[in-house]
Amino acid sequence: MNIVTAGSSNVASASDLSAADHWQKSLRDAIRTPEELCDLLQLPPEYVTPAKQASAQFKLFVPREYLAKIPPGEPEHPLLKQVLPLALEESTDEGFSQDPVGDADALVTAGLLQKYASRALLVVTGACAVHCRYCFRRYFPYDEVPKGNENWEPVLDKIQQDPTIDEVILSGGDPWMLVDSRLQSLTDHIARIPHVRRLRIHTRLPIMIPSRITDELLKILTSTRLKSFVVVHINHALEIDDSVTVALTKLIDCGVVVLNQSVLLRGVNDSLTALESLCRDLVNLGVLPYYLHQLDRVKGSGHFEVSDAEALKLISELRCRLPGYAVPRLARERPGGESKDVLA
Ligand SMILES: *Cc1c(COP(=O)(O)O)cnc(C)c1O
Ligand code: SF4
Repeated sequence: MNIVTAGSSNVASASDLSAADHWQKSLRDAIRTPEELCDLLQLPPEYVTPAKQASAQFKLFVPREYLAKIPPGEPEHPLLKQVLPLALEESTDEGFSQDPVGDADALVTAGLLQKYASRALLVVTGACAVHCRYCFRRYFPYDEVPKGNENWEPVLDKIQQDPTIDEVILSGGDPWMLVDSRLQSLTDHIARIPHVRRLRIHTRLPIMIPSRITDELLKILTSTRLKSFVVVHINHALEIDDSVTVALTKLIDCGVVVLNQSVLLRGVNDSLTALESLCRDLVNLGVLPYYLHQLDRVKGSGHFEVSDAEALKLISELRCRLPGYAVPRLARERPGGESKDVLA
């Protein structure tokens, strides 16, 4: 994935940054090398070489805001595990592939994936504010994604021609990596298609760089006739600090429905206590736990996998402790399936 931070490339000093410049500066300042990561977190030097090798294909990328939540000297920290490349990524496990969810077969036209009835998913960019080591799209051919907004015409035409589509999902990569002007124009184009009623955004930016939730961005969501849903991606309660709370609250307060999806990850959130505190903290904010995904079996992610038996046990234990609405659906994506498979 490449980092495209469009807009001003001038480096401004912190004091005269506009709201839009602020998050873009965070992207520019993000950590990109194992040396710097290990140095900042005081990790033993033996982590550097494997991290360099493992990040050759899928670069290390972590914003400083996220790193600040990780205490130094804890290589097993659940937040660090999501971003630190390990030699284990280079092992080839049977059943793990470059396209574990069948994206290639679901490509309608460049940038448009359609797997399920009534929903169209747009891969609007390959860029993300973090590189999650278990990412199921780490091998996605993002080079083929349309670049400027003018190139989205074929995608919009396809949606226009299919009256059964009433929801458009902006995905990627992370759609909120686009600058506001591009998001605004994309939203306007989608809203002009009469049969589309809802806009859904799949994003990790409110967690990685909470300052991305600018007034301008909120205005895009509230000024459209489309009903907006934002699905964030939080795997652990420790990801939710004060600034994340503020960002999510702003979204909820302006009438957006905010849901969360997590990936069940070995060593990150595969315990009853971790999942219980995450779900509790989410509902206390007004964010509903939506999916807990079983790992998509992408090459290099085998060490994150949790068995179905363990996952099912965790869900049934959660159900005994939490209100029904606080328990996410345990789901798996099966290539060619007509919906996500809900296991529990
Ligand atoms: C996951 C996914 C969706 C959304 O599915 P929901 O069950 O509605 O959340 C839509 N399109 C594609 C291609 C997907 O992978
Ligand atoms: S935010 Fe999502 S798309 Fe981006 S690297 Fe993480 S899992 Fe992949």
